[in-house]
Amino acid sequence: SPKSFEATQFKPTPNNLEAFFMPFTSNRHFKANPRLFVKAEGMHFTNIDGKQVLDATAGLWCVNAGHGRREISEAVSHQIQELDYSPPFQMGHPAAFELASRVAALAPTGLDHVFFTNSGSESVDTALKIALAYQRAKGQGTRTRLIGRERGYHGVGFGGISVGGMVNNRKWFGTALGGIDHLPHTYNAKEMAYSKGQPAWGAHLADDLERLVALHDASSIAAVIVEPVAGSTGVLIPPKGYLEKLREICTKHGILLIFDEVICGFGRLGTNFGADYFGVTPDLITCAKGLTNGAIPMGGVIVSKQIYDTFMETSAENAIELFHGYTYSAHPVACAAGLAVLDIYKNEGLFDRVKEITPYWENAIHSLKGTRHVIDLRNIGLIGAIELESRPGKPGARAMDAFLKAYEKGMLIRVTGDIIAMSPPFIVEKSHVDQAVSILADVLKSID
Ligand code: PLP
Repeated sequence: SPKSFEATQFKPTPNNLEAFFMPFTSNRHFKANPRLFVKAEGMHFTNIDGKQVLDATAGLWCVNAGHGRREISEAVSHQIQELDYSPPFQMGHPAAFELASRVAALAPTGLDHVFFTNSGSESVDTALKIALAYQRAKGQGTRTRLIGRERGYHGVGFGGISVGGMVNNRKWFGTALGGIDHLPHTYNAKEMAYSKGQPAWGAHLADDLERLVALHDASSIAAVIVEPVAGSTGVLIPPKGYLEKLREICTKHGILLIFDEVICGFGRLGTNFGADYFGVTPDLITCAKGLTNGAIPMGGVIVSKQIYDTFMETSAENAIELFHGYTYSAHPVACAAGLAVLDIYKNEGLFDRVKEITPYWENAIHSLKGTRHVIDLRNIGLIGAIELESRPGKPGARAMDAFLKAYEKGMLIRVTGDIIAMSPPFIVEKSHVDQAVSILADVLKSID
């Protein structure tokens, strides 16, 4: 079997597909039915057969500015030639400071400091560690409990799967962290099916945090982590008033509130962050994906001035204030990509573009009401979810068929369980939206 090959000459055969142990993929199914992309530009991928595939998911919710952006590739290529690597511990390089300042400027008032990571998962674990260390620095070392939410997805690190609420992420690996509890998720089909934007019902679900405080005592709780909009478990949109209540209860009990904005951050809802959309300011924000438009891996944790100052003020002179970091934290090439991406967002007004197209998007998603198999439709910003009735005893099988059929018809969608999630790049045109919905309607009619 070939040990190396030119990507352009690569022809998938059972032999040369074998070595790659693919993530979150049915390896056996994929290797029998390979789907390979070789190029991408704008709203489209090109697959290995030369066919155009409409990207209705911005890759994995990350290619917000669309594919093949020359500004990014030029910045990356320049940076790698000038300074390919610089150690982030006890050393620095200009782009790291510039990017941190620019991200902090985009973040809600009071969130002024940025710690860089390489992924959403690392951002989550970093945020949880900062929360624990902050409480300790404040002299509240008994606050070690972390609270997540059912149907939360916070990546795949041991911290993330512990606070996450996705059964398959937990049952295989256990939950490495003890001292975890979960709020109930916010989805209730009876009360909120087919709602547009935020459902009116469900703010009271945040009161469960008071129950957990009564059970464990506030003095044992460090932080609560939630996604403002739960993305990967099927687009669960927070009820009106819910996040406000969580904020109120956290503040009342001295508990830090972490928003996991790996999906919502950088314009997905038409605002800089989900925090801005909902008008609720957390103490920490995790981000990744849209920070570099998916072009180079990078994530970050944005923390409040109060948290940062606490570390600075409680450490001995010249001591390392936070005993944490990655070899590739603030990697120069990732920083260059991030700076180029933030320029694109600003110069092209892409977050406003999301706002402008949201009503059209909402109508398009909800036009699927009554289509075969559909039992709920929901949307917020440039996110849409189409929930299908599951086949008896075979959860996820119908949506997987929809995924494969959509790909055959030239469109990339994302499925989780029996929910189809759509999250196109912000450069999406109305004609692409029409095309996406029309392909989807055909797909749903054609599958059992
Ligand atoms: N947190 C949220 C809310 C996510 O949606 C994701 C990925 O989808 C992650 C964390 C994990 O990010 P990554 O896959 O970059 O580790």
